Amino acid sequence: MTVRTRFAPSPTGRLHLGNVRAAAFNWLLARQQGGSFLLRIEDTDIGRNVPGGEEMLIEDLRWLGLDWDEGPDIGGPHGPYRQSERDASYARAVERLAASGAAYACFCSEEDLEGEAEDFGEGRTALRYSGRCRALAPSERARRVAAGEPHVIRFAVPEAVSVVEIEDEIFGDISFPTSDIDDFVLRRSDGRVTYNFAVVVDDIEMEITHVVRGVGHLSNTPKQALLFDAFGAPRPVFGHLPTVLGPDGKKLSKRLGATAVAELRSHGYPPDAVLNYLSLLGWSHPEEKEVLTRAELIASIGLDRVGRSDTQLDPEKLRWVAAQHLASEPLAELAAHMRPFLDLARFPGAGEHLEAVVDTLRTRLSTYGDINAHLELLYPPEEEAMEKRRALGADPEVRRVLEAVRARLAAAEVWEAAPLDQAVRAGGADAGVKGAGLFHPVRVLLIGSEKGPDLGKVLASIGRHEAFRRLAQALG
Ligand code: GLU
Repeated sequence: MTVRTRFAPSPTGRLHLGNVRAAAFNWLLARQQGGSFLLRIEDTDIGRNVPGGEEMLIEDLRWLGLDWDEGPDIGGPHGPYRQSERDASYARAVERLAASGAAYACFCSEEDLEGEAEDFGEGRTALRYSGRCRALAPSERARRVAAGEPHVIRFAVPEAVSVVEIEDEIFGDISFPTSDIDDFVLRRSDGRVTYNFAVVVDDIEMEITHVVRGVGHLSNTPKQALLFDAFGAPRPVFGHLPTVLGPDGKKLSKRLGATAVAELRSHGYPPDAVLNYLSLLGWSHPEEKEVLTRAELIASIGLDRVGRSDTQLDPEKLRWVAAQHLASEPLAELAAHMRPFLDLARFPGAGEHLEAVVDTLRTRLSTYGDINAHLELLYPPEEEAMEKRRALGADPEVRRVLEAVRARLAAAEVWEAAPLDQAVRAGGADAGVKGAGLFHPVRVLLIGSEKGPDLGKVLASIGRHEAFRRLAQALG
């Protein structure tokens, strides 16, 4: 069996960590099994769709590197992949169920249903339906439909089934009594199909083998299972991922803790780190490893190690995971990733020796965007720095040391950290100083502080021209 998974978002806005996690798991499972990952847009709830919603979520998924094998933008053999374009499939499916007696037209108006809700008494959902129209004679039903009477299509919950048994890969075996399931609506009177119906028709036609999604959908699963059974289609493997709570331990809301994927991108989080972090929302590695590359995630992911307890978003942990990913990036790659984030208006020189800059600052960074927060270390505010340099130049002893260092730097053939470090030491030796007596004044001259990164790295980062400009401010 070829594994086929899907991510089925509604185009209601930017993806956030809570909802994109399902995409991450489905993608990882498909890639591990050499299967297919599908993108399906659940856009039937027109009122909730936002303009450009599909484009935004496609952009977010692409950035995360969750590529799909079939989807609305690239097509595929089981399309269309937008529910709004699948009316023909839904109409056929309604006919099939109606023909087998598994669905029927119901003419009850909402007022009728409200009346019934009273009959049901308190504690029951107001929309619970008694199945009144199920008893209509087929001929009467056909006559009223033909006469154009408004109606919905309901599923006829099979009388012979008293319990729906669900095998969930994460939550185990669960039984739902059918007495709790009313004859639910498949198609509304305006022709729009309901989520439970559309999702099953689509999952069958798209040959989905594994349905992995948030546990919020577990309560929908018995209805969906009944529909699979009614169609005579094998049920997919179900796996419901535990709830993702906000950092405050409360339900994720748009307002709080629902960090948008796009926001992480704009802050310069590496996509692999975000994918890594998403996988840890519910799952753990067999050896409890927490920092995992994309390839390691693909190799090790599995529903068997997903827990049932709620999981909480932890921005600190996300930053930590990101820092670990940054730490293992080769320098040239890291610099290339950081370049778009550079605030060149503020630090015009930083782009010229970016690899050296990144090498100097990398241990301080958790995200690519962090670079600007640390560049001030290499480019301190000019006024204040200049005053310090002048003060250094006014001290004859310090002056002598700096002169000697300058002479050695002037002779440097390559402007790179290691030889520059040697040049500074050689200058110190010439002046008869070493240790703090050498490093402190040189560092104050360069970055305005006695403590900080290696001098060779600082010199390589700011470049030859800027280094001599700073020296000249002290020495003239
Ligand atoms: N459109 C549904 C959602 O975004 C899909 C749920 C499912 O995977 O079945 O929650």
